[in-house]
Amino acid sequence: MAGLLEIHDKDGHPEHKLKLERSEVPFICGGCKELGFGLRYQCPNMECDYILHHECGLGLGYGRPPTQKFFKKCDFQFHRQNPLPGTRICDICALDIRGFLYQCSHGDNDLHPHCASLPLTFTLPGSNQVIKLREKIESRCLKCQRKERASGKVQGLSYVSSDGMLCYHVACLKEACLDNWTMGYFQLDALANEERKMLALQNLAPNQEIRLRAGQSANAMRGIRLLITFLKLVVSAILGEPFTLVSTLFQFSQN
Ligand SMILES: [Zn+2]
Ligand SMILES: [Zn+2]
Ligand SMILES: [Zn+2]
Ligand SMILES: [Zn+2]
Ligand SMILES: [Zn+2]
Repeated sequence: MAGLLEIHDKDGHPEHKLKLERSEVPFICGGCKELGFGLRYQCPNMECDYILHHECGLGLGYGRPPTQKFFKKCDFQFHRQNPLPGTRICDICALDIRGFLYQCSHGDNDLHPHCASLPLTFTLPGSNQVIKLREKIESRCLKCQRKERASGKVQGLSYVSSDGMLCYHVACLKEACLDNWTMGYFQLDALANEERKMLALQNLAPNQEIRLRAGQSANAMRGIRLLITFLKLVVSAILGEPFTLVSTLFQFSQN
């Protein structure tokens, strides 16, 4: 989808036009109320502090989500607020929708604008595998240790490596990223504390061996490196942040 350098959110922020900018400071999107990072539409007037995700701004501009292979029969339309009664849950991340959304005109599916633009496939460097966004998973999520988040509820989608060993619910990744941010573990400056970064990683992969130590088998070390690479890729997708910037969050001196 082509980018617009400038948009005008006539209902949300009529005073000024918003400009497309890249920033290294995390923000809460004024449209969907979700955490964002990186590319965003921002009011150039410093006193305003009105910011939208890139995708939320594009939704305002175009009114159509990127192609969604998981919801082929749906006819999504952009809304500032849920027009139907009751709370809506995003069918990709399984979390509540609190602002801007795409809603199918049949009333069945709803998406956060940022979730609607998540990449469907990545290659996983250092292996011959790919990471795919999937509806069903065969292995347990490395964050919540379960295959299903909650029975009978919206499951959302998951990111899974080809061999199924690395597997995360998008919901669990989003929750862990938000936790890491509120606890101050995600800091992008070069001096970010190593121990804090380790805590952030531990929070993303609670039951995994994540520290590289002398005396580990080559296989174990390879496994840890692959997990970290996987997390760099999926976390940068979830946050909408350029890969290079997110990589610094996972840079450890011993790697
Ligand atoms: Zn947003
Ligand atoms: Zn303004
Ligand atoms: Zn539908
Ligand atoms: Zn979502
Ligand atoms: Zn999970």
